[in-house]
Amino acid sequence: MKLPDFTDFEPFNNLREQMGAELWALDETFNEQLHISLSEKALLTSDYMAVSLDQLSRDVDYRLRYKNANVVLIDENIFHLAACQNVLKKQGIQKVSWEVTNEMVCMQCLHQMNFDGVNLQKSRRQVHNQTVFDNFNLQKYWQNYPNFPLKSHYIALKTD
Ligand SMILES: [Zn+2]
Repeated sequence: MKLPDFTDFEPFNNLREQMGAELWALDETFNEQLHISLSEKALLTSDYMAVSLDQLSRDVDYRLRYKNANVVLIDENIFHLAACQNVLKKQGIQKVSWEVTNEMVCMQCLHQMNFDGVNLQKSRRQVHNQTVFDNFNLQKYWQNYPNFPLKSHYIALKTD
């Protein structure tokens, strides 16, 4: 039996556009190389995952990714949102999660992403930078930048 190709079906495409849905989401089947599994999702939500640095990648705006999810990398007292200069210096196994406990956001990451205009190179932004840093809340951040599922497009963390 020949199935109709719904990607050429106009009403379907219009509906998809209205929904803002990407085509890949409809036909991409689960691939453990690219997609986080349910158990990985559970770990990211309730605890953390130990991954090697080369399993991580980043988005165009430097946000850290593990497969098709944005994650934070938990350091000693801070957590990283982005592939900042400190993350790029790291080696070996790292903790990634969607949750943090007492760690503070990394200021270099805010700078790297130009998050809410944070720019450490402009001294007149010092007060503004500090305000953004003080008010940063990871839960709120995920609400504004949903961490999952992301499109398959991503960039290698280290390009060498
Ligand atoms: Zn950082």
